[in-house]
This record gives sequence, C-alpha cells and structure tokens, in this order.
Amino acid sequence: AGQMEKHGFQTEVKQLLHLMIHSLYSNKEIFLRELVSNASDAADKLRFKALSDNSLYGDDNELFVRISVDKEAKTVTVSDNGIGMTRDDVMNNLGTIAKSGTAEFFGQLSGDQAKDSQLIGQFGVGFYSAFIVADEVTVRTRSALGNDTAGVEWHSRGEGEFEIADIEKARRGTDIILHLKDDAEEFLDEYRLRGIINKYSEHLSIPVQMWKEPVAESEDSEGNKIEAQPGEWETINSGKALWTRDKSEITDDEYKEFYKTVAHDFDEPLLWTHNKVEGTTEYTNLLYIPKRAPWDLWNREQQHGVKLYVKRVFIMDDAEQLMPTYLRFVRGLVDSNDLPLNVSREILQDNKITRSMRNGSTKKVLQILKKLAKDNKEEYQQFWDTFGNVLKEGPAEDHSNRERIAELLRFASTHNDSTAQSVSLDDYIERMKDGQDKIFYIVADSYEAAKNNPALEIFRKKGIEVLLLSDRIDEWLMSHLTEFKEKQLQSVTRGDLDLGELDDEQDKAEQEKAEEAFKESLERFEKALGGKVKKVRVTHRLTDSPACIITDEHDMSTQMAKLMEAAGQ
Ligand code: ADP
Ligand code: MG
Repeated sequence: AGQMEKHGFQTEVKQLLHLMIHSLYSNKEIFLRELVSNASDAADKLRFKALSDNSLYGDDNELFVRISVDKEAKTVTVSDNGIGMTRDDVMNNLGTIAKSGTAEFFGQLSGDQAKDSQLIGQFGVGFYSAFIVADEVTVRTRSALGNDTAGVEWHSRGEGEFEIADIEKARRGTDIILHLKDDAEEFLDEYRLRGIINKYSEHLSIPVQMWKEPVAESEDSEGNKIEAQPGEWETINSGKALWTRDKSEITDDEYKEFYKTVAHDFDEPLLWTHNKVEGTTEYTNLLYIPKRAPWDLWNREQQHGVKLYVKRVFIMDDAEQLMPTYLRFVRGLVDSNDLPLNVSREILQDNKITRSMRNGSTKKVLQILKKLAKDNKEEYQQFWDTFGNVLKEGPAEDHSNRERIAELLRFASTHNDSTAQSVSLDDYIERMKDGQDKIFYIVADSYEAAKNNPALEIFRKKGIEVLLLSDRIDEWLMSHLTEFKEKQLQSVTRGDLDLGELDDEQDKAEQEKAEEAFKESLERFEKALGGKVKKVRVTHRLTDSPACIITDEHDMSTQMAKLMEAAGQ
C-alpha cells in the first residue's frame, strides 16, 4: 500500500455512528441489507454509465454481489464489481454525510432510544451500519472510470477517524471487509447469512452469491459413493427485479421487504399499488404509501422518492416529474418501456410519456387511498393524520383530479365537536338539511377560534353543520375548492350569507324590520369607524354575540390577508 493518510470523521458521522451502535443493536442484521443494497446500487450505476460507454465493462460484464466468510480471521466480506470509487469518492462518501436534511435530522433526535432508532431508520443508516457488527472495517475499491489498477483502501475502527491509502486492485469494484465484534459472531454462520440474504435480496435484479465449498469424493455411512464437486459461487436470490414479476407470484412479505429497501424505512408500508400498464405508453409502477412521515416532509423541495427505471435499468432517484408535489410522500418506482435510456431530467420535464405515466400513477395512488378510506376507516385516519396536510395542496395543484382529491379530504366539524379531522365532504352531504344546497365551512387560526366564532351561532340555531378548518394551508385549499359534487362550498364569514330555503319568511321579515329600525344607528357606526369597514349592517346571524366582522364575497379573507402579511406581501 502507498502512503497512508489519517482523517477525522465529520462530527455528524461520529454522532450517527454512536447513535446507530446504541439504538440498533437489536436489529444487527440490517448491515447486510445496507451493504448489499449499496453493491446493487453500484452495479446499477455502472450499467447506467455503460449505456454511453460500453467499454467500461472491460471483460468483466457479469455483475454480481458476493458474500464470503473467513471464520479464522472473523471477517465477512461483501464484494461487488460495480462502479467502484475514486479516492475523492471515498473521501466524500465514507467520511461525511452529504445527505440533504442532515441538520434537520439531528435536530429531531430526542435521546429516546426507541424514537431515535425509528428516525435513524428513516434517515437511512447506509454504509455506517457496518459498525453495528464490526469493530474494524476495511474498504478496498477501484473505480470503473479509471483505466489502470490503481485503487484506494479505507480503514476505520469507527472511533472518530479513518485512514486512507493507495493500493493496487486487480478487479474493478468494491470489497467491504468487516471484522466482526465478539457479540456479532453469529454472522460467521453461512446459514444465518443465507437466511438474511434470502429475506433482503430476493427482489434485487443483481445476483447475490455465496461461495460453496468444494466437496471431495467420499462414501456415506452406507457405502454409497458421494461425487466430488468443485467449489463455486452459488447464486442465492432469483436475481429478478420484484416489479417485473407477476403480481400473483409476489407475497405481501416480499412487497414489504422491497419497500424497506426503496424507501429506506424500517417500518412496513401502509399500502401499495403495482401495475403493468400496456397500450400507447407501456410501463410498470410499484408505489407505496408509508405509514410514517419522513422527517423532512414539510420541505417542498424534499426529494420525491420515486425512482425511474427504463427497461429495467435504473436511471435516477427522485424523478420529481413522476409524481405531483402533493403526493411527495409516495415511494417506489416507475419502469418505462418507451423512454430512451439516455433520458435526462430536462427531457423528462416536458415529455408526453412522462405526463402519461404521472397521470396514470397519480390516479392509482388516489384510487388506493379511496379504497382504504372505504375499507379501513382507522388506517385511513392514520394516513390522514400523517399526510393530510400535504394532500390538501392537491386541489390547487391538480385541477384534473380535484374531485378525486376532495373525496379524500377530512375535516373537523360542528357535528363531532372534536379537533379530530374525520368528516368527509360526502359525510357532510349526507347530513345536509332539507333545502340546504351549500357546504358551509369556517377557516380560523385555531380549532377553538373556529368553533367559537360568532358567525356559527345562526348555524347552531338552525342545526346546520359547519366544517371547522384551522390548518395553515386551509385558506389556500378552500380558495381552490369552491365546489364538490355540484354543491358550492361557502364560508360562513363571507359576504351576504344566503341560507336559501333555510331562511324562513319570518326571519326575512324580521331582518327587514330591524334594518329600518336601526338605520340611523348604522349610519352613525359607519361614520365612527371611518374607512375601516365597508359597511355596517344588521344581521340575524348572531344569537348571543352583539357583533362580528365578516369579509365581502370577493375580498381577501382575513385569514388570507394574515398569510400574505406573514409572507411579507
Ligand atoms: P446511500 O446508499 O443512501 O447513498 P450509504 O451510506 O449507503 O448511503 O452510502 C454512501 C455512498 O457511498 C453511496 O452513495 C455511494 O456513493 C458510496 N458507496 C457505498 N458503497 C459502495 C459500493 N459498494 N460501491 C460504490 N460506491 C459505494
Ligand atoms: Mg446505501
């Protein structure tokens, strides 16, 4: 080896290592999933690069991941002949955490082991998970992009620093050598390793292999001859990407395991949809709804999480063109048969095929959500409580699916008298009064403010349900959702409240009489308030409160005005 250099880990890496070792010790085996998945990514990256430069394969074009054990040395080695890493790659990838959202992630750690281990799971433990089982890790790698045998060796005990040195490496790709800790020696057992590989690698499109020892010619106890067999690398998984298989042949467990790999989540998914679409555009999608929100859900620039494949070749992560922003919590992949293999983000941007795949995939996601809402109210409620506020961006973003999204919305309501958002627009319509033709709602800063708004008094008196909206996004939502199933949505704090047939003749007559009687006082109020209000008038909306402020039909609501003000407008 050439000259050795010592480097310190980035502070965050130290923190992550510490956390991981202490909160994931009961889930040690995931290190293998992470390392095999990195090897598989490395193969994907090489295949992708080789699309434009086939010579990158050299004479080594059967890509694989190999796992071997050395019981004497107490090591497990995970090898691949994928893209490999240059010295710079090694420095950047195995000494720092380059992921976006890293600061937010560390900000959310609570010190509670159970919670933090969930969070780490979502953040993605990745390469560093090697240190859950190893007290020493050596990485030997050679990039496919270089053209000689110059490689790099990285070595660390996971205690704050790593060493890096130049080496000669005959084969392209990466070997990761784990020296196991005493309490992780179970992973020297080949059966144990096979079990884990079966569980985590069945869906990978790359063959995962283990060395099968040669068998010498011998006789069994009954004198039957046992034939000699040479040692060989035996492929353990089927090496067929999960989504290319027939739906009927895939078990729920396989779908769930696959989810954990694509979504980097420890938890199982809430639900999924898997479709082979044929016709003018041909593609397969496999899309999952997670149970839990990622820690950076509120960042609209957050990565989208749907991967693009073309003819089973991995092309890119986070293909944001494949899902609308209001469904950014969806994880999974789309595999196109029609896009060119050299497709770029720019080409995806304005592309008929992309649009068609996005529309199809969006409909499927909305469909499974609708079905969940119908079949399992409790799970749907869990979904809504987690992702509802993201879905509320939908009516503004996606006009063509407005009605489908509106069906999925849930609100707090005067009918339930609880902060829980569990009333659908359909529920509301079912309970509408005879003669009621509108869906009434109020938007306020908080549930309490909505519930106690004097504008509700008349509705209480008449027994009319009002939806109580108090999330930040609600004003935005309602400005794009003016109708549902041919019923107008009407804010109770806006304009001339026309209760239509719900107003009886007697109310109307009384209103007119009062207007006459208070004419002079009203003029005086108006004068006293100067330009601060447009008009002062008598109302029968109130039963207990003396007065309330309302917005004109076409003016900006007070909520919206506050939002604009907050945004510096
Ligand atoms: P992630 O896989 O989510 O990017 P990891 O911590 O698992 O995060 O890996 C960090 C990075 O190290 C990878 O993105 C990749 O660039 C590099 N890397 C890890 N393992 C390999 C490998 N076997 N071959 C090539 N590069 C690798
Ligand atoms: Mg990884």
